[in-house]
Amino acid sequence: MLSDSHQNSKFTAETASTLVNELRATFVSGETMSYKWRVSQLKQLYKIVEHHEQEIVDALLSDIGKPPLETVAYEIAMLKNSCKTAIKELKHWMTPEKVQTSLTTFPASAEIVSEPLGVVLVISAWNYPFLLSLDPVIGAIAAGNAVVLKPSEIAPATSALLAKLLGEYMDNSSIRVVEGAVDETSALLQQKWDKIFYTGNGRVARIVMAAAAKHLTPVVLELGGKSPVVVDSNSNINLQVTTRRIIAGKWGCNNGQACISPDYIITTKDYAPKLVDALKTELESFYGKNPLESKDLSRIVNSNHFARLTKLLDDDKVSSKIVHGGEKDETKLRISPTLLLDVPRDSLIMSEEIFGPLLPIVTVDKIEESFDVINSGPKPLAAYIFTNNKNLKEQFVKTISAGGLVINDTTIHLAVHTLPFGGVGDSGVGAYHGKFSFDAFSHKKAVLYRSFFGDASIRYPPYTKTKFRL
Ligand code: NAD
Repeated sequence: MLSDSHQNSKFTAETASTLVNELRATFVSGETMSYKWRVSQLKQLYKIVEHHEQEIVDALLSDIGKPPLETVAYEIAMLKNSCKTAIKELKHWMTPEKVQTSLTTFPASAEIVSEPLGVVLVISAWNYPFLLSLDPVIGAIAAGNAVVLKPSEIAPATSALLAKLLGEYMDNSSIRVVEGAVDETSALLQQKWDKIFYTGNGRVARIVMAAAAKHLTPVVLELGGKSPVVVDSNSNINLQVTTRRIIAGKWGCNNGQACISPDYIITTKDYAPKLVDALKTELESFYGKNPLESKDLSRIVNSNHFARLTKLLDDDKVSSKIVHGGEKDETKLRISPTLLLDVPRDSLIMSEEIFGPLLPIVTVDKIEESFDVINSGPKPLAAYIFTNNKNLKEQFVKTISAGGLVINDTTIHLAVHTLPFGGVGDSGVGAYHGKFSFDAFSHKKAVLYRSFFGDASIRYPPYTKTKFRL
């Protein structure tokens, strides 16, 4: 079977080893290194996305109830852009970069050669299951690697579709899909890879990193965190635009099940009621009076995640703080957009990543205090601020350490391929997108060219005092 998907026989460490050996043989043959192979595979990947739009939309609807427009905008269009960028820029990315040399090596010339790493593993997550699977694969192919993709079992329709389409369209001597859950991933992780690119939560990231360490395999870990939104009340912000952009980044991104969705808001005590009112008004205009029935909101992915989110609200000290929403329908796995005002800082909802439609609002006396609130927790994947105050913007950029920052919007930095996308500290290791994806899957080989001319005797013994003085 080309795409090792839904194997009838068990996928063991031996099966994984055979697979890696096969791919390594292709890699060693040099097939994946040529510009021609890389471009042809990127074009094939583009065709998958272009020719199978409806199947992708249907798979995501089945896996997570994702509104078709969100699939088209955030998975299909973004993948097409990634592919187009890689195809357009590939020659340039592959060209060795000439660099200056030092006086010590004169006369010489030097360059940095981008070399493929070898056979790489991409393990992806369920929430943007098409994008998060294929976007790293684009980087791996562009850089000239053989690659195994392990999609998330929590999005089974997308996983099966990826296995089918990559089996049909791609060169299976170097690009393969392995479907499965913990057992299959564990079998894969026992192998020696040249890079592991993992997207998901921090607990599993530690398992991945420990497995990688056994073989000194480098990793990229794309994780999550509590991404804050600071709303400055003192600088005459456009409140309607602010609330619309917060809602788009929270409920408009998979109903809050996105790694860079706003996790909580920080604003001043006196401004919070006004902000809550504005959010309520816009939420109703977007999702109607009964958001549990809205087709523009994804469902909660499965009953485990539904139970996890319900638990966050179970605490009386938290549920008593609901100022909007809070409705649930367990049979349909739906939770309405929910706002909470002033929940205790030591509650579960304020200590773990929410990854769902609940949005707590934390209040402070002065907006500057919000920076201390953010910096008192682990470094988030993204942080946002809405303000017109130049000093506050500067302080935000200087003081807040996060994977990425956006001023006066949320989440859309993801679409800027000239910016690296990745975390810092607890939110991840490494980055990708655009050229950063190519770099993530390349070794930067240092090459120094010398001639036989200008052979300085100073480096050779005997080390006389005269030489030392020089
Ligand atoms: P998930 O449950 O789909 O798991 C991710 C991958 O890990 C899957 O392929 C799964 O099979 C594998 N896995 C699970 N348990 C394993 C184990 N014990 N050993 C080996 N592999 C295992 O996804 P998730 O972790 O629920 O994803 C949500 C998290 O991912 C959130 O924290 C979110 O912020 C983060 N995330 C980050 C990004 C990013 O780009 N930085 C994107 C999406 C999600």
